[in-house]
Amino acid sequence: MKESFLTDISNKDSTIVFDVIIIGGGLAGLCNAIHLSKYDKKVLLIEKNEYPKHKVCGEYISNEVLPYLKFLEVNPFDFGAVKIDEFQLSTTKNKVISAILPLGGFGISRYQLDAVLAEKAKENGVTILQDQVINIDFKKDLFLVETKENKIFTTKITIGAFGKRSLLDVKMERDFIKKTSPYLGVKIHVKGSFPNNLVALHNFKGGYCGVSKVEKNVINLCYITNY
Ligand SMILES: Cc1cc2nc3c(=O)[nH]c(=O)nc-3n(C[C@H](O)[C@H](O)[C@H](O)COP(=O)(O)OP(=O)(O)OC[C@H]3O[C@@H](n4cnc5c(N)ncnc54)[C@H](O)[C@@H]3O)c2cc1C
Repeated sequence: MKESFLTDISNKDSTIVFDVIIIGGGLAGLCNAIHLSKYDKKVLLIEKNEYPKHKVCGEYISNEVLPYLKFLEVNPFDFGAVKIDEFQLSTTKNKVISAILPLGGFGISRYQLDAVLAEKAKENGVTILQDQVINIDFKKDLFLVETKENKIFTTKITIGAFGKRSLLDVKMERDFIKKTSPYLGVKIHVKGSFPNNLVALHNFKGGYCGVSKVEKNVINLCYITNY
């Protein structure tokens, strides 16, 4: 992180209690937290939103991650994940192709998955704080992490898992944040008739829409469009 973009908060009161502070409790932050807790590290995870929470996402996950989830001792199928092994793609000219997915994947909502991972992290002793990190300082090999609720935490290792386009990216004046994105992502959960084992991607002018099932017989429609 570029020190010059950060406010000096080293004169504020803080104590070192945690081995690692993780900023952001999405998939990356939560998996990191569980992983580190398995090595007896004292972890503080700071997430600005309350669990469970919805997230714009296609909610199709490749089976590639199953061995890692097993290592974390989280089985998505215990929480209603749906097995998916067929793929369909339609073009803007309404041509449709289908294929069997050799590796396959599964569908589970982020509402469910993030909450399950957060529960596992807590069970493993991770401290989860619902607060927003507003500033990070780095002085003498130590990170000082300041939150909206006026708390300051100090640690040698801080993991930034705050996704894309966070307030912290603005604060650090990251190049990509200065560029406005022409894309808009939309997600909606609906009920209806759709095969359990299919993930479909339908292209339209300016974007595409993913359709697949998640837990509780719910269909996820998630599209990205150019506005
Ligand atoms: C439209 C769309 C569809 C997608 N579909 C799929 C898909 O089908 N399958 C797939 O595998 N991936 C998909 N992805 C990608 C997937 O959503 C991301 O890879 C994943 O969410 C990244 O996880 P993350 O933990 O890095 O970030 P996030 O999930 O964004 O988590 C970041 C967390 O940090 C928190 N946070 C941010 N700033 C702060 C702060 N200052 N203080 C405290 N907390 C903070 C946020 O509240 C959030 O919970 C899709 C993405 C988009 C945009």
